[in-house]
Amino acid sequence: MILNKDIQYLPGVGPRKAEVLSKELGVFKYRDLLYYFPYRHIDRSRFYQLSELVSDTHYLQIRGSFKTFSTVGKARNQRLVGVFSDGNQQIDVVWFKGIKYILQNIKPGVEYVLFGKPSRYQNDWNFVHPELEVYRPSQGPVTVNLQPMYLTSEKMKNEYLNSKAILKLQKQMLDELYGQIPESLPDYMIRKLKLMPLNDALLAIHFPESAQQLEKARFRLKFEELFLLQLQLLHRKNLRTQENIGIPLEKVGKLFLQFYQEHLPFSLTGAQKRVIKEIRADLKSGKQMNRLLQGDVGSGKTMVALMCMLLAIDNDYQTCLMAPTEILATQHYHSLKKFLGELPVQIELLTGSTKKKDRVPILSGLEEGSLPIIVGTHALLEETVNFKKLGLVIIDEQHRFGVAQRARLWTKSNLFPHVLVMTATPIPRTLHMTFYGDLDVSVIDELPPGRKPIITRHIYDSKRLELIGFMRKQIQAGRQIYIVYPLIKESEKMDYKDLEDGFQSILRDFPPPNYQVSVVHGKMKAEDKEFEMQRFKRGETQILLATTVIEVGVDVPNATVMIIESAERFGLSQLHQLRGRVGRGGEQSYCLLVSSYALSDEGRKRLQIMVDSNDGFEIAEQDLKLRGPGDMDGTQQSGLAFDLKIANLRQDGQLVEYARGFAEKILNHDPNLSATHHARLKHYLNDQPIQTFNWRDIS
Ligand code: ADP
Ligand code: MG
Repeated sequence: MILNKDIQYLPGVGPRKAEVLSKELGVFKYRDLLYYFPYRHIDRSRFYQLSELVSDTHYLQIRGSFKTFSTVGKARNQRLVGVFSDGNQQIDVVWFKGIKYILQNIKPGVEYVLFGKPSRYQNDWNFVHPELEVYRPSQGPVTVNLQPMYLTSEKMKNEYLNSKAILKLQKQMLDELYGQIPESLPDYMIRKLKLMPLNDALLAIHFPESAQQLEKARFRLKFEELFLLQLQLLHRKNLRTQENIGIPLEKVGKLFLQFYQEHLPFSLTGAQKRVIKEIRADLKSGKQMNRLLQGDVGSGKTMVALMCMLLAIDNDYQTCLMAPTEILATQHYHSLKKFLGELPVQIELLTGSTKKKDRVPILSGLEEGSLPIIVGTHALLEETVNFKKLGLVIIDEQHRFGVAQRARLWTKSNLFPHVLVMTATPIPRTLHMTFYGDLDVSVIDELPPGRKPIITRHIYDSKRLELIGFMRKQIQAGRQIYIVYPLIKESEKMDYKDLEDGFQSILRDFPPPNYQVSVVHGKMKAEDKEFEMQRFKRGETQILLATTVIEVGVDVPNATVMIIESAERFGLSQLHQLRGRVGRGGEQSYCLLVSSYALSDEGRKRLQIMVDSNDGFEIAEQDLKLRGPGDMDGTQQSGLAFDLKIANLRQDGQLVEYARGFAEKILNHDPNLSATHHARLKHYLNDQPIQTFNWRDIS
């Protein structure tokens, strides 16, 4: 109750400042301000000794001088290391930038106050880019302990709401509220996990008495945040499965068995079998399936999809497979058709370029129920498309479809069909637990046998002659090559080599008639694209130049080289997808990431991750560590940009898992949270704003 008080009534705020707080920080109520945490604390109490460094949670100040400076590493990786002494001990101080400036301005022997946050590097502490001031004796330590610093905007400062002012408001509020803030977690959890009680944690996060206390407060608040989020997601999932009756697809029928026994072109991998079992259990459960199928490029998701489709048909239902691009839909159509062989199952393709005369019988077949399988693009979402009995929807490469678009498929049938979303963009576990927390997940974590790992190299522009030599050799050996460019039209500001440019130089190096080259880009008409793709597929051209239209799904086993120009411009998941286009046949395959020499440190690191790993999940984890969740491929589009106040998905992965496990256990034992000792949790869930999105929008 108290926490819901309007912030304008806090003494010192008033309507005018309240408006600024709401606009700039989203602070409307007492609670919002209380949960507006400092981004750091400055320890002004005293000068620290280097021997006292124990944690990296806060900034502190140390008095001392530099002994020496030396530069380490070469060129882009160069850094400056200064040896800083407090009179007793020494520590490395590291700069990656502004080296010249530091060397000119910071002198050995002069006494400085070094001010920063210690970090750990290979078991030693160091400071990276600390602030330095020349020490002046008069500038003795101030009396506050750990001074909280709050982020504030220009507009806030104009209204006298700087960090110090926020601090004062927090002080005032905590004086008023301390001891009365209702605990959010059950007492037994607090005891069991040795958590700091909420009142103390909120006081300590703003006004800690020691680094240790701050640490405990942070842990408590992070756990609370992640746990309550998971509880909410899992609870929502429970409600969904209670409310939505699923179409029972119980029978394993003739078609499935006949296919399995007579038409399967290879034996399924263990992972494929397991995933099919998981899906089958959903299909016959009487509850609607809403499942995400993750599997690295080439892990064989199409076969899993087909077998699930056959189950649906055996139970007298129709099924559709939707893909994000025309090329991919066409490819799916052809591979499914090939897999089905002589089996008596009709399958059709519906895309934007399906001719009207072909369209009419397809639409009526769907409406009458005589057409069991349709593969297509967004065209399937059009109003003219209606099913008689749609039982299973499979969506490939989910993150390319908008949320609203996906939801439309549901309206095409009376009962909600089962939904399987397939993605080859691996999302790190912690992320998908948070972003897709209420979906079930199956993972194909095994590639079909006999695949040779793709050799990946990062090469610089300057090595282009060698690259061309290598390409000639591969072509001589009968192989084919992809070259991918990030842009279609050259942008004046950036000197990225664009497709048209690249085409000219490829024609010079690989002149016809000895060599044939296909070009495919996003601005071409679908039929022209298809024509060029087919030429490459049939082996009539040796090189396919493309923008990222080939990203998903293209299957040309004879292609063994993937060259990616300006590779630093692509997301890691995207690079991994592209790499998955080769290595599909028996030959050794290569992925060559071309960049200019001028690369940012991060760019260089990211390409190195690609060179080091062939595992999409590991790559996604590394990408998360490097860039944080906001920039990950596949998360921006999730439509659920959770606004975490204190936990950090980049660092707190383990805590996410832990919090989820805890929430799962509680809901398993007490699904409606009706036990008295869960009253606080129940209260929390009831108190949450009604979701403006429907769960159906999520998958
Ligand atoms: P993705 O998961 O990327 O969609 P695909 O379904 O396109 O992968 O499969 C990649 C290739 O592996 C295809 O040529 C497919 O026929 C083949 N494949 C799938 N499963 C198996 C298996 N169990 N054994 C051998 N080859 C397989
Ligand atoms: Mg695929």
